[in-house]
Amino acid sequence: MSQNAIGFIGLGRMGGPMSTRLLKAGYQVVVHDVSQDAIDRVVGDGATAAGSPREVAELSDIVLTSLPTPHIVEQTALGQDGIVEGARAQILIDVSTTGPSTATRVAEGLAAAGKQWVDSPVSGGVAGATNGTLAVMVSCPQKIFERVEPVVQNFGKIFHVGDKPGLAQVLKLANNMLAAGALVLSSEALAMGVKAGIDPKVMIDTINVSSGRNSATQDKFPKAILPGTFDFGFATGLSYKDVRMCVDESETLGVPMLGGAFVREMLAVTQAKYGADSDFTCIARLMEEWADVEIRG
Ligand code: NAD
Repeated sequence: MSQNAIGFIGLGRMGGPMSTRLLKAGYQVVVHDVSQDAIDRVVGDGATAAGSPREVAELSDIVLTSLPTPHIVEQTALGQDGIVEGARAQILIDVSTTGPSTATRVAEGLAAAGKQWVDSPVSGGVAGATNGTLAVMVSCPQKIFERVEPVVQNFGKIFHVGDKPGLAQVLKLANNMLAAGALVLSSEALAMGVKAGIDPKVMIDTINVSSGRNSATQDKFPKAILPGTFDFGFATGLSYKDVRMCVDESETLGVPMLGGAFVREMLAVTQAKYGADSDFTCIARLMEEWADVEIRG
């Protein structure tokens, strides 16, 4: 493997297209996932498969993780056969939404083995991951930032948030709480309008040139709610995890977060009813049921 070998662990909705972008940029990419289908897709694009996170870290210089939960990120980095055991890789860039407390803990574990942690959570969904138009929030010391910048610039626009592990994670949690909150409030507003007799498409078109427009009305309603497909590409379980971590972090910092707690509970109900694997646009389905209307157009 050349000096430009990159490891990529977690080849799902986000990690799959992001690893393909690295292949297209000319990097050798060594991949790992627990799903053989996910591996096969990226190997088909030119990646090499490895049997464990340790093996990935033995075959690459920088390893990226795009994994579903903070616990899985921690296990993949520090557990048995983890990245920490692979001698070659010196840097782990975590593009998952992991939250600041796990980020800080894993950074310490890696530092004890002479390896560096880089927070790099992303926003912009599957379309952004495919097209390289994500917002990429990075926190790590400047010297390390200079080494990882050429890699993460393949994913979109970079924002260097600070030096400390976890800072970019805090920003990402704030963003995701806002995105889920916009979806909750927009679902309430649309259910009300439709029940009163307004065509939901007319409502969305009007709101999108008015002061109430937001990421749900501009993106989620036209793509996944009005057509009734509920397939935007972000799982209810992941959104619930993010908003839970956001409210927890706010509590830790002594900042009241009443609206965030309400959004968290709406996600708890959506998950209880439709399951963790449902798309988080199912928040609108919940409102449809409560209001006894269909928001379609
Ligand atoms: P996903 O469930 O589609 O992908 C996760 C991948 O990790 C799957 O391929 C799964 O098989 C694999 N995996 C699970 N456990 C593993 C393990 N122990 N070892 C190796 N592989 C394992 O999730 P996603 O939507 O791609 O999200 C990944 C991360 O990115 C999450 O932290 C999420 O919060 C964040 N994120 C998602 C989006 C989005 O729109 N989907 C946007 C921004 C950030």
